[in-house]
Amino acid sequence: MVGLTKVILRLAAGVAVAVAGAGAVSAAESNYPNRAVTWIVPFAVGGPTDAVARTVAQRVATELGQSIIVDNVPGAGGTLGATRAARTKPDGYTLFVGHIGTMAAAPYLFNALNYDPLRDFVPVFRFPDTPMALLVRSDSPFKTASELFEAARKNPEKLTFGTAGVGSSSHLAAEHLAATIKAKFTFVPYKGTGPAMTDLMGGQIDVMLDQTNVALPQVQGGRLKALALTSQSRMPLFPGVPTLTERELPGFLASTWYGIYAPAGTPSVVIDVLREAYLKALADKSFTDGLKNNGIDVLAADQVKPGPFGDFTRSEQAKWQRVIRDAGITPQ
Ligand code: ASP
Repeated sequence: MVGLTKVILRLAAGVAVAVAGAGAVSAAESNYPNRAVTWIVPFAVGGPTDAVARTVAQRVATELGQSIIVDNVPGAGGTLGATRAARTKPDGYTLFVGHIGTMAAAPYLFNALNYDPLRDFVPVFRFPDTPMALLVRSDSPFKTASELFEAARKNPEKLTFGTAGVGSSSHLAAEHLAATIKAKFTFVPYKGTGPAMTDLMGGQIDVMLDQTNVALPQVQGGRLKALALTSQSRMPLFPGVPTLTERELPGFLASTWYGIYAPAGTPSVVIDVLREAYLKALADKSFTDGLKNNGIDVLAADQVKPGPFGDFTRSEQAKWQRVIRDAGITPQ
């Protein structure tokens, strides 16, 4: 009899904890967020990921009524920040700004990745995409993409190509470009394309592919020259700059997509609050016009729901697994 009583007590205790737990979680969820939220950005301050994240965070914070703190955790193509984020408490107070590299390509570039993009994270909402520009210093001898590609083919590994590290979107796009034009560059990794762009302007490296939001002020300021864009169509903010797909490389498109991911186990109520706040921001024309005026060309509003964003992340993993394999890149 004692045994049975003990079992019943244990069951009752278990149920009590479950109820209390559920009650406690719903209390916490019901007034989420009741303190500042942290977004981990896995690249250096001043790069395109940092810039887009801070712009979106500022507007979403207004809707949440709480501040959003951007915490830059750079290194290893963004995978250090992803690893840190994957281990945070799934309570909605630490989120991750994931992107094409950390959430799609990384599993095929790193043998010992310390996180799984799909198992350790849940998608919350997708940011606007940013196309990329092929950038050289304004006094570079190259006047067109064709001239640059010809020089790269004739002098394998002579031209230095700045990236934000293995697996970053600037690296993936550069590998994709090198394989497409059948040329070899010497890749120079940085903790973000912010510091890489400083070296490009300083003449320490020859070329970069970086996102249009950070390329725009440097091109408009006459410090850099955009030889081409990786978008489907030309961008009014880059007058006279052709796209690669219209001229040298039909079908060559590259853009960096981003989004907010939460550690797996984050309550769905929290995810709904975050997504609703972002949808309100996207409904604000002054916000979306501000993004477009900064060279952020594509707004993926249709991808805001976690379902489509999760499907998109999976399809991107399959795409970059193929591109990485076809480019002959071996995981490190
Ligand atoms: N997003 C950029 C990349 O992946 C890096 C950065 O934002 O600094 O290349």
